[in-house]
Amino acid sequence: MAPIPSTMKAVQISKTGGVEVLEYKDVPVPSIAKGQVLIKNDYAGVNFIDTYFRTGLYPSPLPLVLGREAAGEVVSADSSVANFPPGTKVVYMDSQAYAQYTAVDAAKVIAIPANLTTEQAAAAFLQGLTAWTLIREAAHVQAGQWTLVHAAAGGVGQLLVQMLKSVGAKIIGTASTQEKCDLAKKLGAGWTVNSKEDVVAKVKEITGGHGVDAIFDGVGAATFDADLEMIALKGYLVSFGNASGAVPPLSILKLAAKNVNLLRPTVNGYVAERKDLEKYSAELFELVSSGKVNLAIHDVYPLQEVGRAHSDLESRKTTGKLLISIE
Ligand code: NDP
Repeated sequence: MAPIPSTMKAVQISKTGGVEVLEYKDVPVPSIAKGQVLIKNDYAGVNFIDTYFRTGLYPSPLPLVLGREAAGEVVSADSSVANFPPGTKVVYMDSQAYAQYTAVDAAKVIAIPANLTTEQAAAAFLQGLTAWTLIREAAHVQAGQWTLVHAAAGGVGQLLVQMLKSVGAKIIGTASTQEKCDLAKKLGAGWTVNSKEDVVAKVKEITGGHGVDAIFDGVGAATFDADLEMIALKGYLVSFGNASGAVPPLSILKLAAKNVNLLRPTVNGYVAERKDLEKYSAELFELVSSGKVNLAIHDVYPLQEVGRAHSDLESRKTTGKLLISIE
């Protein structure tokens, strides 16, 4: 194993803003604290949340190395860590992943099964855990229920569609272009609606007036009001993102007309306990290994081109997962 250097390349911000605030620079390699491992990252995942930290929608102390997930190899471990010896291939969700090395609490680290590569693990992990826990814990989706996935050709969206298919749900996907709608259909959506059309009217027609039992909405501000119109009686409205902006504050009286179960969850809340992280990771890897979930990698960008990856994601021209490859 190569010696660990004292400095490394990382992408950080010292102020919030557009992609111009991203700095590709030399920073110290982090030292590990008690219970931590040092991971040499092969691939970091690009997630919409990275743009929220960059723009300041989610405030954070600065400077901040961006990135919330990566996969790579353990290169050193604190003496208290027995289960991840150097050489172990691992994946994790934690901050400061757009870097050559990241120090991570061993409690947040998962060993990658031998049949998956670090590229596949990074492509699957954060978005896969999100999609799967939202289905299982937020909406409790049952076979035969009507479900709707917004941005169904996106990173989380494609995984939601395939996972909902695996549990036997009836899936309506929305997307902004015909190509994206076709993709969602290919992955398992029985019906698709172009988001430029009257989505509420189409969904009422498709469901015969029933509405949808579970809505998965990572688009946010632009779609929330329509969600309240399309949701079925006693339905689960899972608002989990802000791609079009944050949903403004609302009166809870709006939920009364249909006894709506409204949730605004984060994946971290569902895997905060080690037993849950292990359980859902194992289930996710099984879904991928069995072929029920295919990973679609839109593009792999070098670390110095994180800005191009963010611009592509924000401009709605991507489908599937964006990865950063790290030398
Ligand atoms: P996507 O690949 O889904 O990209 C976002 C998509 O949102 C776009 O492709 C676009 O699809 C749609 N969109 C609609 N309006 C806009 C807009 N104004 N600007 C940009 N995109 C828009 O991204 P991710 O898979 O990384 O994330 C999807 C959502 O999931 C995000 O909101 C993210 O924050 C959230 N998320 C939440 C988590 C949680 O724990 N709560 C964890 C992980 C992700 P189209 O063109 O088809 O409309």
